[in-house]
Amino acid sequence: MEKKLIGIDLGGTTIKFAILTLSGEIQQKWSIKTNILDEGSHIVPDIITSLKHHLKLYEMQPNQFSGIGMGSPGTVDLQKGTVIGAYNLNWKKLQPVKDMIESGLGIPFIIDNDANAAALGERWKGAGENDDEVVFITLGTVVGGGIISNGKLVHGVQAAGEIGHLNVEPEGYLCTCGNHGCLETYASATGIVRVARDLAEEYAGPAELKRLLDDGQDISAKTIFDLAKEDDQLAVMVANQVCNYLGLACANIGNLLNPSFIVIGGGVSAAGKFLLDRVNTSFLKYAFPTVRTTTKLKLAQLGNDAGVIGAASLALMIK
Ligand SMILES: [Zn+2]
Repeated sequence: MEKKLIGIDLGGTTIKFAILTLSGEIQQKWSIKTNILDEGSHIVPDIITSLKHHLKLYEMQPNQFSGIGMGSPGTVDLQKGTVIGAYNLNWKKLQPVKDMIESGLGIPFIIDNDANAAALGERWKGAGENDDEVVFITLGTVVGGGIISNGKLVHGVQAAGEIGHLNVEPEGYLCTCGNHGCLETYASATGIVRVARDLAEEYAGPAELKRLLDDGQDISAKTIFDLAKEDDQLAVMVANQVCNYLGLACANIGNLLNPSFIVIGGGVSAAGKFLLDRVNTSFLKYAFPTVRTTTKLKLAQLGNDAGVIGAASLALMIK
């Protein structure tokens, strides 16, 4: 009987699980709330309990699985299978995730960071068309990324793929990392709102976005892109600036790695073709000629499933 894979996408609010075939088709999926109380000490035991419960429910045995793969926030030690500094999980101290899960379930376990897992997912079953050269950018509350080159994730010494901290404006906004002008400060969900507030200060004409901001209303990146699509002049200015920085970052990524695809995902990418077309315009402006014609920008296709699918694909590497 063909073995199965388990993929886990560990996040600050939910933990997503899926059982997949070796070719990456999801057969079962479920999720549980992440309990970050008591320094996140319940998280791994909750994962083990939930997996045991579901294996029993589906009448499956540990030896039917070739492995469990997981994507996690924080700094992941790939060899030891540990995580440290995942602050949205309250994991300040070192967590021996691999040891706990393998001894709890008796199934081989492998872990990588969450952005890398999502990159693998989009590469395998999504916009990456299973190509060996794919870069994934996720635009959410933070901007993250994953690089697949020669068919393998690029890990560097410790922190390759920190696309959110590519510098796009050396004198720009202060970033959480301590630098100024990182892509994340402009193109994350909160960064986009920040750009809107700044441009609204100097904007004099009529614009619904200006009215909402002056009125003290809560606006989101979605509000801004929705208004831009309706040709609200201020919102269009914000979208153009954000997409210009994204295109510049994509051009730099393209010039460095010349991937077949740069895949743009995460919540902000829901702005769709409107966003992609603008990013592409600036990408074409800044990219090296050969890169312009050989690297293609695409929207992600798997949505929330990218994490579990990519995590499961990690388990294919377990020998
Ligand atoms: Zn930064």
